[in-house]
Amino acid sequence: MAETLTLGFFHLPADVWRSEPYTLFTRRNVSKNLLEQGTFAQVIRYAPGQDRTEKRDRRERYGVVLQDPNILMALLRSCGHDLWTLMLFVLTHELVHIVRFTRQNVDFFASVADRDKEEKLVHRMTREILAGVSNTDSLITLYEKPYGLARPNSLYQPISTGGFFDAHL
Ligand SMILES: [Zn+2]
Repeated sequence: MAETLTLGFFHLPADVWRSEPYTLFTRRNVSKNLLEQGTFAQVIRYAPGQDRTEKRDRRERYGVVLQDPNILMALLRSCGHDLWTLMLFVLTHELVHIVRFTRQNVDFFASVADRDKEEKLVHRMTREILAGVSNTDSLITLYEKPYGLARPNSLYQPISTGGFFDAHL
């Protein structure tokens, strides 16, 4: 649903995620330097491992690293959360980032000040995308507070050579 809603918001064709796939990682898939305490997820850019033989597969691609322990802790902390709604919120937010990087010339390596501006914009877009879709309004309001317990945030990572990830990925 996050994929479909994001494509609709940006008026993009339905096959974008197939032609420009991203990879979803959980914490067990990534090395320790990608573990984050205060976030639900982050966007990374990486090059698939050298064992890939097809040229297409060697292109840099984006990934979403889910900080799943933080997501589960948030579910335990509040009876107002449910996994479906929280994940819809987190994934929509991260997919908006990816579309902004791939389609709207947003600089993945921008300055800290520009990243903060981009975060605010992405949050506003996410709010707009999810408005009226499900019971996400209170959740979005909670995590737009600057000092929220675990507001979703994107961490910009330099390109890796693939060494950060399990060989299977
Ligand atoms: Zn973000």
